[in-house]
Amino acid sequence: MKILVLNAGSSSHKSCLFDLTSRSSTDAAPIPVWRAALDWTHQADMVELVAKTDTGDSVKEVLPITDKAKGIAAMVQTLVQGPTQVLDDLSDIAVVGHRVVHGGRDYQAPVIVDADVKAAISSLIPLAPAHNPANLQGIEAMATIFEAVPQVAMFDTAFHACMPDAASTYPGPYDWIDQGIRRYGFHGISHQYVAERAADLVGQDIATLKILTCHLGNGCSLAAVRHGYSVDTTMGFTPLDGLMMGSRSGSVDPGILIHLMEQQHYTADQLSTLLNKESGLKGISGLSNDMRLVVEAMEQGNYQAKLAVDMFIHRLRREMGAMVASLGGLDVVVFTAGIGENSPLVWQRACEPFEFLGLKLISDNDLSQAAGDQDIAAADSAVRVLVIHTQEEWAIAQACISLLQPTP
Ligand code: ADP
Repeated sequence: MKILVLNAGSSSHKSCLFDLTSRSSTDAAPIPVWRAALDWTHQADMVELVAKTDTGDSVKEVLPITDKAKGIAAMVQTLVQGPTQVLDDLSDIAVVGHRVVHGGRDYQAPVIVDADVKAAISSLIPLAPAHNPANLQGIEAMATIFEAVPQVAMFDTAFHACMPDAASTYPGPYDWIDQGIRRYGFHGISHQYVAERAADLVGQDIATLKILTCHLGNGCSLAAVRHGYSVDTTMGFTPLDGLMMGSRSGSVDPGILIHLMEQQHYTADQLSTLLNKESGLKGISGLSNDMRLVVEAMEQGNYQAKLAVDMFIHRLRREMGAMVASLGGLDVVVFTAGIGENSPLVWQRACEPFEFLGLKLISDNDLSQAAGDQDIAAADSAVRVLVIHTQEEWAIAQACISLLQPTP
């Protein structure tokens, strides 16, 4: 089976092709045979298209295209022509899987896209104005290219949709519930994938485990996964809530926003830019949203960079503690995404306060050698600590497989 996956954003499109034709098992994440990306921010009135195959062939071009559907069509063409050709014909593709950011309360699992699903994604645009329109446009563009080929939507909110009411309801007026103002949570595809992979790696049934998953990339969120279900998470009504992030503030006193509106006449747009693009590591360090650059500056004695890293860690630890309380115990901690997969400094400093639970990491030297999915807890640790590379595209491909080939 050949599965095409699309992650459509407002300023970029990322796609990959899984060829499962010769696979006997679908347990471990396979390497896509083709990957491609469109960058719409590269140059005005142009799009940059990059495609490459698993054998190292690649193509990179800047095309005079502004229409997103046309860009997607050009990207898909690189599957069947030029140096990155991996298919004889586009009809070889059995299914197209999509990451869709917002599925509201109704979508708790991946679905085959039909008119109702498209209408639901569209009706949720007010809740995800930056993402759902791009996701829908991606689905429409693929429908035009592939016509009758089934398309599957996997929602970033779905994993958290069954959180208990006490965790998902905001303490504003009761009416907010009817208005859909609640904690939805995001990064759900990643949290679910790494929690399931963690259970495999520790060799225990997920239904018996209390797992704290830490997705630390440009966007950062935690999830409390009890017995396979998300029971709490740090992102909320929007991805702005919770942890300090690359350029997003995370939780701040809402009174600050009222103050800025009253005293400095901030508009909604200005507040959105301030909190989403000018805060977090970037806002405090004054340097960058990239953790590597901020740590580098801290090591050179830059005070703001040190404060940014200290705050990132402080808030991470505090929210980890909150998730442990929601879990009512802790068997496994998982670190994933760019920072979570690569930063011994963050593993050490984030885990340090949980030593009282019997959590112990391997030696500093061993941590600095860590690579790939692995357990970084000491042999006698009471809590396993895993670094797992998130595989959201593979999770979407797996959802396609189970919807198209349901197990009897
Ligand atoms: P996105 O949320 O955009 O998918 P990523 O998951 O790629 O982001 O994570 C990006 C973040 O990961 C950046 O802050 C980057 O600095 C950080 N990162 C990547 N590699 C390392 C590393 N070796 N050490 C520390 N941070 C890293």
